[in-house]
Amino acid sequence: MTATPGGGLGPISAAEAASARADLVDLHLFESYLAPVGVKGLAVWCDDCAKDHLHGWFQLRMALSQILAGLEPEHAVLDDTASETEFVSWDFCRGFAAHASGNFAVHPTTTT
Ligand SMILES: [Zn+2]
Repeated sequence: MTATPGGGLGPISAAEAASARADLVDLHLFESYLAPVGVKGLAVWCDDCAKDHLHGWFQLRMALSQILAGLEPEHAVLDDTASETEFVSWDFCRGFAAHASGNFAVHPTTTT
């Protein structure tokens, strides 16, 4: 792999771009479901640090946008005072979104 000026990753592959765009769509969905109930973002595993990092919704969108632009995402981490209970994993989000949309289809009646 050749280095690019400015320290970017260079053009990403079509598969990587498709994956990042899909993640952005998912992220928007997760945020629409979870932000109103107090979830502030995602806990994402970091191989470099061998621990979960907490990322706010805005940070996550920024990172995916940077990947799509061929830039290396900043190693941005929320400060450690953020409560881990306010952050969830991608897997939790996927399960929650599937559950929420399934419920909506199965129980179309409105609650009183
Ligand atoms: Zn890290």
